[in-house]
Amino acid sequence: MFEKIYGHQSITNHLKKEIARKEVSHAYLFSGIDGIGKKKTAREFAKALLCPESAHHGNGQCAVCAQIDHDNYPDVKIIGPKAGEASIKISQVREMISELSIKPYSGNWRINIIDGAEKMTPEAQNSLLKSLEEPLNYNIFILMTSHPQAILPTIQSRCQSYHFQPLSLKDIEKVIADNPEFDQKAKAEAIMAAGGSPGMALYFLNNSEIQKERTHYLRELYSLLKGDQIKVFTLAETLANDKGTSQEILEFFIHWFYEIDLLLAGYPLPHQEVPNQAHKAYHQLLENEKNQAIIKTLFELMATIQYNVNLRLQWEKCFIKIMKIQKG
Ligand SMILES: [Zn+2]
Repeated sequence: MFEKIYGHQSITNHLKKEIARKEVSHAYLFSGIDGIGKKKTAREFAKALLCPESAHHGNGQCAVCAQIDHDNYPDVKIIGPKAGEASIKISQVREMISELSIKPYSGNWRINIIDGAEKMTPEAQNSLLKSLEEPLNYNIFILMTSHPQAILPTIQSRCQSYHFQPLSLKDIEKVIADNPEFDQKAKAEAIMAAGGSPGMALYFLNNSEIQKERTHYLRELYSLLKGDQIKVFTLAETLANDKGTSQEILEFFIHWFYEIDLLLAGYPLPHQEVPNQAHKAYHQLLENEKNQAIIKTLFELMATIQYNVNLRLQWEKCFIKIMKIQKG
């Protein structure tokens, strides 16, 4: 067990011992910076406790382990801030608590994971306290946090605490080795910048790839707006290759022209973003009404792209229309 965890060896050794001696705690506090491996360790711990192939203890990819990996095993509950929310609400914690007295669905344990535990409101933390004070036999809590100081001392004192230390460069390299799509130079740079967190290294890698792709499409579209007709067909051809990419780039284009719309109206960009070279180039090239007509055209494409249409043809139509708008 825990073979997939790189680094954090003293923690995984402790957890292994607890499992072997049947001295598993009812509450844990996993602390450490974002992306360092807390959640992965929590999942591996859950697998070690719940995998029915007990001889392997979570090594094999049985159905239970696979479900745990995908966060949809009924005896492993995970809560965190809901999408668009900054905090974990008391209602979420209450819902978790309301199920504590129900027997686990199949194994001997129910693992209740609170991801970003510092984001629980004080009321939410207080409502959790009683469950930690009087635990029910088969319930285990794992609170994960990058800011343990924001957890009430009364909660901390009821948890077995494990602090996850930053990983060595070598260990981060091992974690991201499974991502062959990135070249060595990019990997080395991301590892150096990651501050000991493999999750952060992956974030840097993914975003630089996404960024490169987007910059490419912006450059092509800019040529099109400047009158290069060939781009209508070359762009449509590449974008039609993959429906997912089509959708993603279309959403990005819409977002992009909305930003240009803000600049044209004299407003700052959202999230304190500073206009880059591409923003400036588009800003100079486009006029207010034309920009809005382009946004409208992109939305029309968005409406048709949902259906099973000839993607290439639809993109071509869209680009031809955009060219006409710009020509005026
Ligand atoms: Zn298994």
